[in-house]
Formats: sequence, structure tokens, C-alpha cells
Amino acid sequence: MRITALAGGVGGARFLRGLLHHLSGRSDGPHSVTVIGNTGDDITLFGLRVCPDLDTLLYTLGGGVHESQGWGRADETFAVQGELAAYGAQPQWFGLGDRDFGTHIARSQWLGQGMTLSAVVERLAQRWKLPEQGVTLLPMTDTPVETHVVIEDEDGSERAIHFQQWWVQHQAQLPAKRFVVAGLNQAAAAPGVLDAIRTADLVLLPPSNPVVSIGIILSVPGVRDAMRGTTAPVVGVSPLVGGAPVRGHADACLSAIGVPVTPDGVAGLYADFLDGWLVDKADEASMTGTEPAIRAIPLLMTDIDATAEMASEAIELGLSLRR
Ligand code: GDP
Ligand code: CA
Repeated sequence: MRITALAGGVGGARFLRGLLHHLSGRSDGPHSVTVIGNTGDDITLFGLRVCPDLDTLLYTLGGGVHESQGWGRADETFAVQGELAAYGAQPQWFGLGDRDFGTHIARSQWLGQGMTLSAVVERLAQRWKLPEQGVTLLPMTDTPVETHVVIEDEDGSERAIHFQQWWVQHQAQLPAKRFVVAGLNQAAAAPGVLDAIRTADLVLLPPSNPVVSIGIILSVPGVRDAMRGTTAPVVGVSPLVGGAPVRGHADACLSAIGVPVTPDGVAGLYADFLDGWLVDKADEASMTGTEPAIRAIPLLMTDIDATAEMASEAIELGLSLRR
């Protein structure tokens, strides 16, 4: 099976780790997984290009992630950040550990030498042994793009701030009016992205943020058309359990774009291509309509086995919907 998945950071990475665990136990392998990662969260800090979602995918699938936090490196120290603070270098609201800095320095050096982000990611992925696990990680685009959040000031005027500033510094507490992705209309999907969607046997949407992770990937020119046009079944996993996000601020993101904070509301964002939708048992009764095909199962990624079971259900649902 060739599986293609669109992914943000923590929710995407944890689900994919469970998917790989499930695939490694199947007798019908080998299987390959192509992951298309969100780069809208990317930001330049201290002259370094930081790609939080791609790095969360690398660290999680490579066994180097800070487990309870869900992002960043295990066994991390913060000497460099302490030095930057001592100089008053800004910003201080974005946590960058010493090990993590290594990734950003290497990436920035290679980008500075003219490598594309795709080529950089391929190189970083070797260190984290993604190819050995049958995983190809692709950034959604090689063009630098950044998600910005339009907020309204007290005097009624609008202002756009970087997504990370809204999410991390302000904890999504400033009411968002909309999300815009700077640079996106000049961007093209990275090499391999559209083909990976079109030629997959199964396309999965992990329980990533539907607005600022999956929604951003879908807005890369060509991606949504590829999702509509693929012959593969498309199966998604709800990021909402019991009508609320399991972590993060997906509720604030959905409200900002006028979408109900329900699994039904999220599925509606994918209505033009979604074939199957996994919802939590707690949300089964709230589902309406006959499309997409619904399966209700426990959707909490409490450990790797529970997550592998979710991935197994997603695959089964997909195969049952094969066109
Ligand atoms: P981020 O980029 O690090 O914010 O991560 P993603 O966009 O990939 O995923 C964030 C989403 O994952 C949030 O909306 C959460 O509700 C969802 N999520 C996190 N843990 C779980 C879980 O155990 N089960 C489900 N169904 N969703 C989860
Ligand atoms: Ca993210």
C-alpha cells in the first residue's frame, strides 16, 4: 500500500507514529508512507529558519521528541536561549532548546547554500531514519510561506501578526478574524506532493488542526484539486473528541472562520473530497447525513497501541470505500 498523509505537528506526528507501528505488524507489507507537512507555521528567528511542524514530525518519527510536551527534543537544555535573553535578543516567547537549535542552524546553512527546503528535509530525515521506516517527508511547498492571523485592535483597525505570535505568545486569546498565508499565491506544491496524492492507494488526514495545519496545506495551489481528483479513498480522523480539541486551540481557529466546533463541522471543510471520517464514540450521536461514511471508535491517542488501532481502523474504512 502507498499511503499519503497531510500533517501538522503534534497531532499529525503522533498519529503517524501509530500508523507506522500498525504497518510494521501487518503481514501484507512492505508499505510506504508519504507525509506532506505544513510549512505555514515556519518562522525566521535569530536569523534561523524554524519549521516547527516538520521538526515535530522528524523528532517524533525518529524517536527524539520530548514525549510529554509533544514537540521539541527529549533531554533538552536551554543554554543558548539563556545567552540570548542575557543580551536582550528578541523574541523570548518562542522556546528553542540547544539540541533543537542544531536543526535550525543546519537547515539555515543548507538553505543559505541554495538547497531547496525539500532537499534539506530529505537530509534531516536521514538522520532520523525516516527512509528506513518507509517514510518520505515532503514540505507542502519549497517557497517560504507564513500563516498570519488578522486580529482587530481596540480602535477597530485590523492588523496581521505571525501565526506563532498569535498561537504561542498570545495563546490564541486575541480573537482572530481570519487567516492569511503570506506568499502562498506565488507558491507551488513541492516536488512529489501532487503526485503523492494522485497516485496513492489511500490518503489519510490525521487529527491535525483542520484550519491552520490541514487547511493551510489544502490551500497550496493544486493540492485541493489533487485531493478531489485522486482515485484513492480519502479518510480523515477527527481532531475533536467530545466536541472539543484534545489539545491546542482548534476551537478558536474554527470559530474564527465561522465553522461549528463539531466533528460534523470539521468534516464539512473537507466535503468535496472526504470519503470516510473517523469520529470518537462520544460524538457518534452528533453526526448527521450519509456522506462521508462514518465510523465511531475511541480516538484518544493515549499510547502507541491505541493510536495504531486508530490507524488500523482508518485503513480498513478506506479499503472498504475503494472506488
Ligand atoms: P500542531 O501543529 O502541533 O498544533 O499539531 P497538529 O495540527 O498536527 O494537531 C493538532 C490537533 O491534534 C489538535 O486540534 C488536537 O485536538 C488534535 N489531537 C491531539 N491529540 C489528539 C488525540 O489524542 N486524539 C485526537 N482525535 N486528536 C488529537
Ligand atoms: Ca503546527
